[in-house]
Amino acid sequence: MLTKKMLEDAARCKVMECIRCTMKHDNGQDGCLAEVAQTALAYRAMMERLEYVTAGSLITCPVCGLSPALGHMKNCELAALLKEV
Ligand SMILES: [Zn+2]
Repeated sequence: MLTKKMLEDAARCKVMECIRCTMKHDNGQDGCLAEVAQTALAYRAMMERLEYVTAGSLITCPVCGLSPALGHMKNCELAALLKEV
């Protein structure tokens, strides 16, 4: 699992000097890409668990506020991030 700083460095890959990069380059750039993808998938799995939360007596999306029965608002950013295809 990569830290926020490592992800920020990876996002600037090829822009910043590698000597200042906190990413582990042990497995080369392909290894870095795999680590970034694994971390992104872990974040995604956590967001899927938080897609609907209990707020008082209601179960709603924490971003757009709609219930699972209604789905998400058309412009819900969480729904956009969790979109499968
Ligand atoms: Zn939503």
